[in-house]
Amino acid sequence: MPIPTTRAILADLVGFDTTSRDSNLPLVAHVEAFLGRYGVESRRVYDETGAKANLWATIGPKDVPGLILSGHTDTVPVDGQDWASDPFGLEERDGRLYGRGSCDMKGFLAAALAAVPSMVAADLARPIHLAFSYDEEVGCVGVKRLLEVLQDEPVKPAFCIVGEPTLMQVVIGHKAKRSIRVTVRGRTCHSSLAPQGVNAVDYAALLIVRMREIARRLAEAGAVDAAYDVPYTTAHTGVVNGGTALNIVPDLCRLDCEFRVMPGEDADALVDELQAYARELEAEMQDVAPEAGIEVDVFAGFPGLETAPEADVTVLAKRLAESNGHSKVAYGTEAGRFHAMLGVPTAIVGPGSIEQAHKADEYIEIAQLDACDRFMQRLVDWARQG
Ligand SMILES: [Zn+2]
Repeated sequence: MPIPTTRAILADLVGFDTTSRDSNLPLVAHVEAFLGRYGVESRRVYDETGAKANLWATIGPKDVPGLILSGHTDTVPVDGQDWASDPFGLEERDGRLYGRGSCDMKGFLAAALAAVPSMVAADLARPIHLAFSYDEEVGCVGVKRLLEVLQDEPVKPAFCIVGEPTLMQVVIGHKAKRSIRVTVRGRTCHSSLAPQGVNAVDYAALLIVRMREIARRLAEAGAVDAAYDVPYTTAHTGVVNGGTALNIVPDLCRLDCEFRVMPGEDADALVDELQAYARELEAEMQDVAPEAGIEVDVFAGFPGLETAPEADVTVLAKRLAESNGHSKVAYGTEAGRFHAMLGVPTAIVGPGSIEQAHKADEYIEIAQLDACDRFMQRLVDWARQG
């Protein structure tokens, strides 16, 4: 049986439209069948609808701590993007392979799968696990269910590598995130009678200002780490919806806002602070209209990652990537969850650049895929030697 190349596997994976809103099961079935051809069993961990699944597979001994290769199967949508070629067909131009997910992050998945035949042939002393998730692009949600299952496994893996695009550089930190929807409910009336109503837009504005005040305080006096582009915690409001006409006091306003929190700062305490201010405003609103109120819901988020530069996983990741440096990044990944929920030391290394992710004409350099193939072969050597 000829061993398929990373590129051929990537072409297959890109061919499945796994936009986060849709099922990833056709891709999961394809990967299961691939693994099955090499005698590797895999296990699905479904979402609550049964339309999506994580895939977990182990190559090598099951009673020894090993290394997890983690990646997500879902991609961001192509809606409204202008592509030069079919986003779901891998196309080579100028040393690059174009396609949705080629970089973020089916390239890494393909390199991991292409290494499976040599993992199987190598008689590994330590296992290599594959953890392929769904719903990463909507807040690193899907992998939670897999991690809940893995929490019950008797042998905890020793290391995890998350293959988000880092140009094969070792990344050891990212911020935590909390995504918050605020719903302000007031009381409507004609604007000429404004004091008889409760203006939901006005109260929402006070919350927006409070978010700015928190942001300023953290920028001036919060945790600092120069390894980040923006070296402190940020807070911002991204969406405001409220009001219908100038002569109507609005009774509804919605805000979407977020905190991106430095490791070492308490993300939930910031949410609590916003909550407490909402309760204060709510009391004032209810003096006029008892039915008024403010709901503050955290609808998404993920833990941050802070792996030590001298940690074993950092040293191993550098060896496998043949790269000496390490850095920290602004975007979130599943790495924080692996560490927070499983306690597995985790680093991020993957092919391609985050600059190419999520955009029209997403691509991965062929040279990056080659570098990832070499990473996988060194990983197999490591796992063989035990
Ligand atoms: Zn990604």
